[in-house]
Amino acid sequence: HVPVITIDGPTASGKGTLASAVAEALGYHFLDSGAVYRATALSALRAGLAPDDEAALAALARALPLAFRGRRILLDGEEVQEQLRREDVGLLASRIASLGAVRQALRQLQLDHRRVPGLVADGRDMGTVVFPQADLKVFLTASAATRAGRRHAQLLARGESANIDSLRLDLESRDERDRNRTHAPLRPAEDAVLLDNSALSVDETVAAVLKAWES
Ligand code: C5P
Repeated sequence: HVPVITIDGPTASGKGTLASAVAEALGYHFLDSGAVYRATALSALRAGLAPDDEAALAALARALPLAFRGRRILLDGEEVQEQLRREDVGLLASRIASLGAVRQALRQLQLDHRRVPGLVADGRDMGTVVFPQADLKVFLTASAATRAGRRHAQLLARGESANIDSLRLDLESRDERDRNRTHAPLRPAEDAVLLDNSALSVDETVAAVLKAWES
């Protein structure tokens, strides 16, 4: 049995930071499934595909030459981890993630990350769809104001300017799209542990998950 921990939740709730820290603490592999959707979006932008061309996008997703090497993410051998953070890439990722054929095409690629000694996977549907048998499922939330504030600080740290109100509107509209879509809508798995980290530090959040894992 290869243990799996899933961490799902809305945009900018801190899933990635939490999941990679938990993976590191346990010596497990880490899957950033958002990066899989973002890489599909980047690839689609490069190929000039229309955002609603479901068949072409699914074909592209099925053959996506994506590899994770520690912090580096390689698309057809090229390092793309910086480009994947672009706002236009994130926006297109959010749009194509509503297409059932694209989600289905990316499923196996995600399942392949389940390897010994274990996996921590973060995203929107890790506990509900991709790894429904996961040993621990966490649903991480934080208030919209907290999440917009964190994203704002991240962008400033990278030397990019941003307006906190428009960031908040943007993340709320992405969450709305994720929650209301037909395929794999964003929602906690029935057996998920709900964790709101609005008032918690990263260390406290990691500690809460490790405690839930040990118990
Ligand atoms: O988490 P991140 O912002 O990198 O994800 C980009 C987009 O991919 C999200 O806005 C979401 O719509 C989609 N996504 C998804 N299912 C996942 C991971 C991400 O639908 N498991």
